[in-house]
Amino acid sequence: MKIQLNGIRDERFERPLHHITQLFFEESDLHFGVVENAELTVSILITEEADKVVVTGVGVLANSSKKFESMFENSFKEAETEKKRFTLVKGAVFYVFLTILQDVTGMIQQWGILTGIRPTKLLHKKLQEGKTKEQAHAELREDYKILDSKINLMQAIVDRQLAVVPDLYHLEKELSIYIGIPFCPTKCAYCTFPAYAIGGKQGKVDSFLGGLHYEIREMGKWLKENNINITTIYYGGGTPTSITAEEMDLLYEEMYESFPNVDKVREITVEAGRPDTITPEKLEVLKKWNIDRISINPQSYIQETLKAIGRHHTVEETIDKFHLARSMGMNNINMDLIIGLPGEGVSEFQFTLDETEKLMPESLTVHTLSFKRASEMTKNKEKYKVADRREITEMMGLATQWTNEHGYSPYYLYRQKNILGNLENVGYSLPGQESIYNIMIMEEKQTILGLGCGASSKFVHPVTGKITRFANPKDPKSYNDGYEKYTKDKIAILNELFDLEKTK
Ligand code: SF4
Repeated sequence: MKIQLNGIRDERFERPLHHITQLFFEESDLHFGVVENAELTVSILITEEADKVVVTGVGVLANSSKKFESMFENSFKEAETEKKRFTLVKGAVFYVFLTILQDVTGMIQQWGILTGIRPTKLLHKKLQEGKTKEQAHAELREDYKILDSKINLMQAIVDRQLAVVPDLYHLEKELSIYIGIPFCPTKCAYCTFPAYAIGGKQGKVDSFLGGLHYEIREMGKWLKENNINITTIYYGGGTPTSITAEEMDLLYEEMYESFPNVDKVREITVEAGRPDTITPEKLEVLKKWNIDRISINPQSYIQETLKAIGRHHTVEETIDKFHLARSMGMNNINMDLIIGLPGEGVSEFQFTLDETEKLMPESLTVHTLSFKRASEMTKNKEKYKVADRREITEMMGLATQWTNEHGYSPYYLYRQKNILGNLENVGYSLPGQESIYNIMIMEEKQTILGLGCGASSKFVHPVTGKITRFANPKDPKSYNDGYEKYTKDKIAILNELFDLEKTK
């Protein structure tokens, strides 16, 4: 849809208005000012007065005389600062634009004008500021136009998170650690993670692990010297179980020796994502080092789908490896499912849920396929036939109903850009089996230190909450060339963050 938008002169509005447009149209083409052959023209008028802002908008479709009108007024009564005034003007403009697009398309946006990827973070913030649930909900409803069904979902998730991590608002003096292992048996078609097919590259793996051991040692030294404890540790990638059992053993030994108080870490997770990497030897190693949370990811239980997306393992392998892990004492297994994989509709997804019922993993993450730019699928969109928005929404509804009927509750959620049908990804778990790391990464209440390839660190300032990011390189070669420097740089940021220079 080619849209001409008149009346917007402030550049700060442009990006969010693009995002709002993308919620409605798979192929959106938004222009600020006059453009030839616009299919829809929206004119916005912003009238700022001393005590309020009034925004009106009119949308007209080409070849039609029908008008779509909207109006919104925001009072400046509680806007003490210029920034707050701007937020109110922005909110009014977004609301008017959103409602016009809703009327034009007949589509209702359940998340209103909220385009951020972490809705629950917003609710946590309001509650932490001392607002009551009722006040916070009213603000979400009025300022963002979020529907009650989504506000209730957010509240259920926030309640659950605070039950699992009662000190969630006071964990800023600890940190969590993410360790990235960038190898996989083969590369899946939709993948945008740092993942390099491992076949025949042992030299590369050896040098990478050398660098990773170094980072763990140095960071561990710093944490011990500064009495900083670790809340959770997460091995992701790639596929952390794509290295050999012996390499895994040495890595976990390093973790226990270098990091402080590993026995007090609340959770250690290893993504064993691809079932074709799981062996009894590797499971023994995980057990030996008390790692009991793993992720085995079927994505789908339909063989043709797995083939189409380039996952070279069979459905039976997923099921067999799940039973093997169970029989060897793994009592907290997560499984990832993806809605909207190529060629899959409601009946295929129902089949996947039926198969999941036979296994009953402790937690289940339901993703909606997003067309991330870099992935193979985006480059070949014609080759991969995917369900439309209506069907995706139906599948999401099935997942909600199924998890509810089987005793799972949602405990974290995030939204993605370019996500089919503008839905969310939701993590469900059986009671008491929530992943604390997932809560940490979503709610950004403490620093996540990233070690290894493609690992990004998110430094959360313990007082202001300001976030600084630092990314280790994605490819093993650059990592191998620079891991000493990256370690040093991160230690410098940590020193500043925890204000350690002054106290030394
Ligand atoms: S297993 Fe995961 S990380 Fe590896 S290629 Fe597939 S999607 Fe990417």
